[in-house]
Amino acid sequence: MITIDGSQGEGGGQIVRSSLALSLVTGKPVTIENIRAGRKKPGLLRQHLTATQFAAQISDATIEGVELGSNRFVFKPGVVQAGEYRFSVGSAGSTTLVFQTVLPALMLAEGNSTVEIHGGTHNPFAPPFDFLTNVYLPLLKELGPTVIPGECQPGFYPAGGGSFRMNISPCQQLHPFELLERGKLVRREVRAVVAKLPKHIAERECKLIARKTDWDAKCFVCEEVTGSSGPGNVVMIELEFEHVTELFVAFGEIGKKAERVANAVIQAAREYIATDAPVGAYLADQLVLPMGIAAHQGHACAFRTSPLTQHTKTHIDVLQRFLEIEIVIEETGDVRTVRLCKR
Ligand code: AMP
Repeated sequence: MITIDGSQGEGGGQIVRSSLALSLVTGKPVTIENIRAGRKKPGLLRQHLTATQFAAQISDATIEGVELGSNRFVFKPGVVQAGEYRFSVGSAGSTTLVFQTVLPALMLAEGNSTVEIHGGTHNPFAPPFDFLTNVYLPLLKELGPTVIPGECQPGFYPAGGGSFRMNISPCQQLHPFELLERGKLVRREVRAVVAKLPKHIAERECKLIARKTDWDAKCFVCEEVTGSSGPGNVVMIELEFEHVTELFVAFGEIGKKAERVANAVIQAAREYIATDAPVGAYLADQLVLPMGIAAHQGHACAFRTSPLTQHTKTHIDVLQRFLEIEIVIEETGDVRTVRLCKR
């Protein structure tokens, strides 16, 4: 039994989700204590509860203490079964984070799976659906598994009500993969989305970004979502290079001017553009998990990124508790090369 201290390092939900993902992949039971002790509202929130129940369902796990608000639980996985799964977060909690909890196990399972999740699809502090489909999944394909996204009904905080489906074609032996260069810029897209809010919000966001960059008018898209349960506004800047796509995001909030939202997303994109590292800070945080699994199987991986966040460092500590891997971080100026190999 592995015991994970949920208050370590960054003390957030990723410690819980990644411990579940790694418990499923390795078959090792886990106890998680002090769950999300570093957060304002500690313990299991709906999103983490759904992720844990989902992980339990796909593996017929034995669980103790899995309930809303719980700060300790035990998870003993059985055999992971590919199949058709449908889960609802029951709030605006992030569907993409729930998906990333079960994806590593299903991408290694014997047989295809279909997963449908309902809840929030575009949430602050989580990868938006578009990040998952355009940034994360193409890189996962380089490691072996093919995940084909279906339609997304956007769901925003606080109403939720969004959903998506994913078809997972697994690959039991992952491939070695290095992501060291961006390659040439192929495409830029700025997409400002509104749901149940006036379209001029999206138009003002695009206008400000157009003024502050020299990007061609055809890069800009304003979109009005239909069928949303509640209001929402998100602006995304997507930069597609030959070897990687990155996506930056900012969310509208009550009382926050559209121009401030637009400035926030420009700032995030500029920080990325300022270095030549292909992998941005959030992507680094998420890429270490599938690359760690590949390394554990004996397939060395590497990527270049900006200095690691506390979040990524905490994630690496969790990975090393479950996987027989060595992670070496080389420093060159403001860029870090992260190399993962079997221990
Ligand atoms: P936690 O805060 O521990 O629940 O983890 C949040 C997760 O969401 C981490 O994997 C982050 O990398 C990811 N994340 C947060 N914000 C973004 C963003 N703007 N774009 C992509 N991923 C994000």
